[in-house]
Parts: sequence; structure tokens; C-alpha cells
Amino acid sequence: MGQIIYGSEVAKERRAALKEKIDMQRSEGRRAPCLAVILAGDNPASLSYVKGKEKACAEVGIEVKMMHLPETVSQQELENNIRQCSEDDKIDGILLQLPLPQGLQENRAIQLISPDKDVDGLTEISVGRLYLNEPGFVPCTPLGIMALLQKMGCSLSGKNAVVIGRSKLVGAPVARLLQNENATVTICHSKTHNLEQVCRQADVLVAAIGRPLFVTDAFVKEGAYVIDVGINRKADGHLCGDVDFDKVMPHVSAITPVPKGVGPMTICMLLENTYQAYESRRQ
Ligand code: NAP
Repeated sequence: MGQIIYGSEVAKERRAALKEKIDMQRSEGRRAPCLAVILAGDNPASLSYVKGKEKACAEVGIEVKMMHLPETVSQQELENNIRQCSEDDKIDGILLQLPLPQGLQENRAIQLISPDKDVDGLTEISVGRLYLNEPGFVPCTPLGIMALLQKMGCSLSGKNAVVIGRSKLVGAPVARLLQNENATVTICHSKTHNLEQVCRQADVLVAAIGRPLFVTDAFVKEGAYVIDVGINRKADGHLCGDVDFDKVMPHVSAITPVPKGVGPMTICMLLENTYQAYESRRQ
């Protein structure tokens, strides 16, 4: 029977440690770290994510500068806002909530985020640093996955790691982080042949697909470490992951559940990245 690692608990511990660090800075007379959140439009999912991020920031003592722009905002206005935040000395981190409303050019906007404030790790400079294994900001979900593997007590050097999914936000960066830790990494995607067989070689299996209960016990090697990134809604309205938890759990060393797995770690890593930006700018 595998160990279940709850991201919600790991995140709670890490947030408490972060709050202590911020309280200490404040008690020494320094200002609070500040995260600028730029939200364009009223996409309900984005509004809800932003609300969650604001609440989490408030709990640890990070100030949020919220910039809610109208759905009809022009590319130029959006870019002016990002430039202003990049130049503002009192702002440590910038979060551009994605997706942007139709018609706006996401990539062009992202590149205007100052790399030392790029707490989502999305600029080309941050991506380049990750691929060169140089210090820089890493996207929050992959960072959370690495923290969960560490919590599982999984040493990565020399291990076979298989990542299902190659998205810019999750699959590709987590594969790079695993490789940077000396795992031997295989990246799978929708065109991969013999997926089950490839996955059965994995000591570490990361599922970031977006397909409910796709990974069954047939994909899993005995004793593997399994991270389920997927967030899917079942017909009954409940959330489930990409991994068929009940079938897989008896075979693993450790596994993350959905919900309460990777999701809470993503927000926690945003808080930690913001603090890191604050600290390195202060220094
Ligand atoms: P995405 O951009 O849609 O990428 C999905 C990846 O899965 C693609 O690389 C795709 O391959 C691959 N794929 C799809 N069907 C496949 C199949 N049958 N066999 C093998 N590979 C297949 O999604 P994403 O943004 O990476 O997110 C993945 C999941 O994680 C979603 O459920 C999302 O909601 C969740 N998520 C969770 C968090 C969190 O905080 N917990 C954060 C981000 C995302 P191709 O490249 O060939 O199309």
C-alpha cells in the first residue's frame, strides 16, 4: 500500500514557514513583499483563481496590488500596465493571469515582465535559465511537483522518470527539472506509441494530461512514485485526477491525491517565488 502525500499539508507547513520569514522582515522594519496581479476581463475561472491567490498572499503577509483591466483592454494599455509594474520599485513579483481575452497577444505581453519579477517563470529569459540549469524563476506547478517528490523521500539521481504531457506550463518544465536532478527522463504525449509499456519503466511517473483516470495500474511499475497533476471534473461534479487512484495506489511507494495534491502546492510556490523575488531585489 502506497504512502499518500497530501500537497495541502505540505503547502500548509511551507506557508507557515514563509509567514514567519515575512513577519521577521516586518519586525525589522522592512516593507512587505508585494505581488502585482494583472487580470484582464472577467473569465469566471480566472476570477476564482485570482481570488484564491489574493487570499493566500494575505495569509502569509504578501501585499497584492490588483490591477483588474476590462475585457476590452487594448494590447497597448495592457503592455503599459506590465511595463509600469516592471519599473515600480515597490513591486517584487508580477503575475499576469492567463488566458488573456481573445485578440490580445499573450506571448508579447509576457515578455514585458521584468525577469527578476517573473514569479510564474514564463518569460523567455526564465525558460532559458531553466534549460541551462541556471538560477531563475521556475513555473509554480513544476516547482510544487519537485517539492512533493522531495517530501516523498524520492531521490531522483539515476532514476527513470516518465512525464506524460509536454505543455509549456507543466510537462516540459517538470521534465527539465527532473533532468536537472539527474533523472533519466522520457517525455510522452498524444503521439507516443506503447504508452503503457513506456510508463511501466518509470520509477517516477508524472501525469499531466487532462484526461480523467487515464493512468491505471497497467501503467505503473511496482514501487513507483506517482504524481497526479490532472484536474478533471467527473459527471457527478466531483474532481478527479489523471490517475485512477484506487487502482494505482496499492502498487506505488507514494502517490499524490486529487484534490489536495499538486493544486495547493502551485499557489504555495507562487508565494515562495514572490518572496524569493523580494529577497533577491532587497539584496
Ligand atoms: P495541456 O496543455 O492540455 O497538455 C496536455 C498534454 O497531455 C499534451 O502534451 C498532450 O499531448 C498530452 N496528452 C493528451 N492526451 C494524451 C494521451 N492520450 N496520451 C498521452 N499524452 C496525451 O494541459 P496542461 O496545462 O499541461 O495540464 C494538464 C492537466 O493538469 C490538466 O488536467 C490541468 O487542469 C492540470 N493542471 C493542474 C495544475 C495544478 O495546479 N494542479 C496546474 C496546471 C495544470 P500533445 O502535446 O501531443 O497534444
